[in-house]
Amino acid sequence: MAKKKVVVEAAWAEPFKIKVVEPIKMTTKDYRLKCVEEAGYNTFLLKSEDVYIDLLTDSGTNAMSDRQWAGMMMGDEAYAGSRNFYSLWDNVKKYYGMPYFVPTHQGRAAEHMVSQILIKKGDYVPGNMYFTTTRLHQELAGATFVDVIIDEAHNPDSEHPFKGNVDLKKLDKLVKEVGADKIPYICIAGPVNMAGGQPFSMQNLKDVQTFCKEHKIKMWFDATRACENAFFIQEREKGYADKTIPQILKEMCSFFEGLWVSAKKDLMVNIGGILATRNKKVYEKARNMVVVYEGLHTYGGLAGRDMEAMAIGMEEMVEYDNIRMRVKQVEYAGKQLEKHGVPIVRPIGGHAIFLNANKFLSHLPKEQFRAQTLASEIYIESGVRAMERGVVSAGRDPKTGDHRYPKLELVRLTFPRRVYTQAHIDVMVEAIVKVYKNRKNVKGLKMTYEPEYLRFFQARFDRLK
Ligand SMILES: *Cc1c(COP(=O)(O)O)cnc(C)c1O
Repeated sequence: MAKKKVVVEAAWAEPFKIKVVEPIKMTTKDYRLKCVEEAGYNTFLLKSEDVYIDLLTDSGTNAMSDRQWAGMMMGDEAYAGSRNFYSLWDNVKKYYGMPYFVPTHQGRAAEHMVSQILIKKGDYVPGNMYFTTTRLHQELAGATFVDVIIDEAHNPDSEHPFKGNVDLKKLDKLVKEVGADKIPYICIAGPVNMAGGQPFSMQNLKDVQTFCKEHKIKMWFDATRACENAFFIQEREKGYADKTIPQILKEMCSFFEGLWVSAKKDLMVNIGGILATRNKKVYEKARNMVVVYEGLHTYGGLAGRDMEAMAIGMEEMVEYDNIRMRVKQVEYAGKQLEKHGVPIVRPIGGHAIFLNANKFLSHLPKEQFRAQTLASEIYIESGVRAMERGVVSAGRDPKTGDHRYPKLELVRLTFPRRVYTQAHIDVMVEAIVKVYKNRKNVKGLKMTYEPEYLRFFQARFDRLK
């Protein structure tokens, strides 16, 4: 069993070498000031060619392996019944343990279908903290999202090893308030992105399952970064040190009726998604819906070659050296920042470092968008692109129309898989430390344009004088 076969025990060094390179543009601070102004101080609106190190997201930004690229050449671009669909389906069964599956063009397409199939108007969907697209699809289907994550998740300084856990008392309270028949399913993600990439434990899944069985509530899994969660379970949870990543992943999935995956994360491809389930009725509905919104159920908005790259990516995502390097690279970045006193969310997450903007820019009032401000300052200083995960991402309350001020006001530095080296990380650290030392001179932002849905993607801001 090749679980912990590492060349040098202490090093997280890359288990691959570089075969193809993509040059990046080097820019000046004056040039970046102009760029960020044109982009309305929203890092989503920057041109990627003006970015030096792009830590906006780990979504679809991965470097594929030579095997995956070779797989792309094996694309069977038939309209129906592509060979690649069947190799992908085999791997969905093998790694996630779900018998039924439809491919989708992205994760949110699967979220759309799951929400429309399972939710009735007036329902409640509990979840271990919200995710932007997940919650929006639940709301568009007529449900109210209810956060049932443990309190520690909202505290950036708590050292709880499993801050992604569900609080059963909160779940019980919801069931008592609205009745289990108003709760079609509980949605569990791991590691929890908005909490700082924090995992749940296997024990918590067992406890949630006991509760849900008693109340006849289904469990659905946002398995987008499930392999990172499996790695944390292997590292931190009693009884799992000798289990392999594929064994832990399969055990995690065994608790759920179904799951969706954005293949743009764990699977190390640039596009794709999955909806998989053990419920044949849900599968049949999804298979029918997919032809309305995505394409035939054997390609779901993807090319055959994309499905082949996903199938191979699934084999690589569970390789111990790959997942270890991924998580340890992020940990390295976080530890470097901590050495310089930069406030980050603890413990360090699986896919990203989250700067605590409330502490970093505590001199700014919260109405001036601390995290949005910090993300644009980091870009100006260094050309490193990060993302706001705070009040702008949280949007407005659909009932009151007010800003939702989450307890966590964060800037996310997200690491694409197999893309950047340790030297890139050292540059990023140097730049953020410089902004930190100069933080008292940073001015806030005001919002000048606000789109109706998922506003963080397109909102515009001006710098206050
Ligand atoms: C990215 C992501 C999604 C949405 O997937 P897309 O492929 O971007 O549509 C859903 N849930 C989580 C946890 C994600 O990270």
